[in-house]
Amino acid sequence: MNVLIVCAHQDARSFNGALLALAERELAAAGHAVEVSDLYAMNFEPRCTAADFADAGSGSLFKYDELQERAHANGGFAPDVAAEIDKLVRADLLILQFPLYWFAMPAILKGWVDRVFVNGLVYGGGKWYDRGGLKGRRAMLTITTGCYPPMCAPDGINGGMDLLLWPIQNGILRFAGMAVLPPFIAYAVARSGQAAREADLARYAERLRTLERTEPIFFHPRDDFGADWRLKPGIAPRTVGQRR
Ligand code: FAD
Repeated sequence: MNVLIVCAHQDARSFNGALLALAERELAAAGHAVEVSDLYAMNFEPRCTAADFADAGSGSLFKYDELQERAHANGGFAPDVAAEIDKLVRADLLILQFPLYWFAMPAILKGWVDRVFVNGLVYGGGKWYDRGGLKGRRAMLTITTGCYPPMCAPDGINGGMDLLLWPIQNGILRFAGMAVLPPFIAYAVARSGQAAREADLARYAERLRTLERTEPIFFHPRDDFGADWRLKPGIAPRTVGQRR
């Protein structure tokens, strides 16, 4: 399969750098075609501006999502955006790799999503969730943290990790129609020690070797929701995001 890894770390000597190099090696050895968007190395522009379009109009109110829709219809994206969209469309599996920043992804990666998950292709016109434009593709998060695992237990001080990742896993990847594999998380990598980090790398290699047998995370299908957009009576919430 074609794998696109989008990585948001400044330094190849970091633990994120080690995870990225490992993924490139393992996936290639398994016969997959791997593309990498190393966002800091690319000096990727995270801001959504008029420069993203061949023609952003002039004088009228700036509406980024409408400009995306028009550029998608007429091929009017700036070359850096167009190149990333091409990579995304080629990918059977998208891996977003990043150090957790403020319970979220670093701004440079959020900017990649904002500029590349474009209206018209990924969402819009009835394309969302089960019917999202990236339906049929899979996605996975590879994350490092500063915090220790118990802090992200369901009753931990940070709240459960599945809760922290809900906006990304549901609000971006699932919204776009993708099947989302369980995240790979290496906790407290700066403090865990060399042996623990080596164990993390071995665990990641194993995850990469078993990707095709890994079951996606459960999300309620659209049919579980009524005309009021809420879970139909009688359907028990089964995600961290829906509750009664
Ligand atoms: P590094 O510090 O680069 O690496 C850790 C260690 O691994 C280093 O000693 C390195 O030498 C070593 N290493 C490198 N290669 C290898 C190898 N091949 N084998 C073994 N060891 C190796 N954390 C949270 O938990 N929650 C937050 O909300 C959060 N918010 C943050 C916000 C900001 C703005 C910042 C800057 C940090 C935040 N953090 C948070 C912490 C952040 O998530 C961690 O610092 C980050 O995940 C560490 O990953 P790294 O790749 O930079 O590790």
